[in-house]
Amino acid sequence: MAIVIPRPQLSFAEKLYFVEIFKGLALTIGHAFRTLTKVDTLETLDYPEVQPDLPQDYRSRHRLMQRPDGSPRCVACFMCSTACPARCIEIVAEESDNAHVEKRPKVFDIDLLLCIYCGLCVEACPCDAIRMDTKQAILVEDAREKFIIDKDSLLDWKPSDYPDHDEISQQAPGGLKHAAALAAFQSGDQH
Ligand code: SF4
Ligand code: SF4
Repeated sequence: MAIVIPRPQLSFAEKLYFVEIFKGLALTIGHAFRTLTKVDTLETLDYPEVQPDLPQDYRSRHRLMQRPDGSPRCVACFMCSTACPARCIEIVAEESDNAHVEKRPKVFDIDLLLCIYCGLCVEACPCDAIRMDTKQAILVEDAREKFIIDKDSLLDWKPSDYPDHDEISQQAPGGLKHAAALAAFQSGDQH
């Protein structure tokens, strides 16, 4: 059913517009004045020396998750690259040496200059192999090709940079739960 939204009735002063424009200007100038007279209370960072502390779920640069033996959890299913609206993920698959996994990525490149940080690749992945929780959101390089990140750089992260309750991250080499996870992985209980 259609909802009728009544058009607001403007007073004579509002119809003139000038009054409203000056009210808006007064508000803006008031905020600017308060800001300039209380500089020490401004919430600013000494950027870029001090980087902002972004929340863990902020959609930032990607990483590839690792199995307990350090190999990528990715099974080269192409779901992420198919879902990617920017077509910026390039995957080349090869046969996996893990008896429980058919394929693994030989090449896994993401062009961060094309990426629109929509997170659809993360949503599409059936095995939690790709995440965007590195908090690396301010990327600066001196050449365009340096924005194409490969499999090795996507796998280059430390469990200590992620919360203790992040089970999958802590099962990676160097993580709090790595020893138990590696034992389960080597015994075949975990793939
Ligand atoms: S965040 Fe979006 S645009 Fe970027 S790689 Fe993932 S699916 Fe593609
Ligand atoms: S990251 Fe996930 S969705 Fe993308 S190819 Fe690997 S397993 Fe498939």
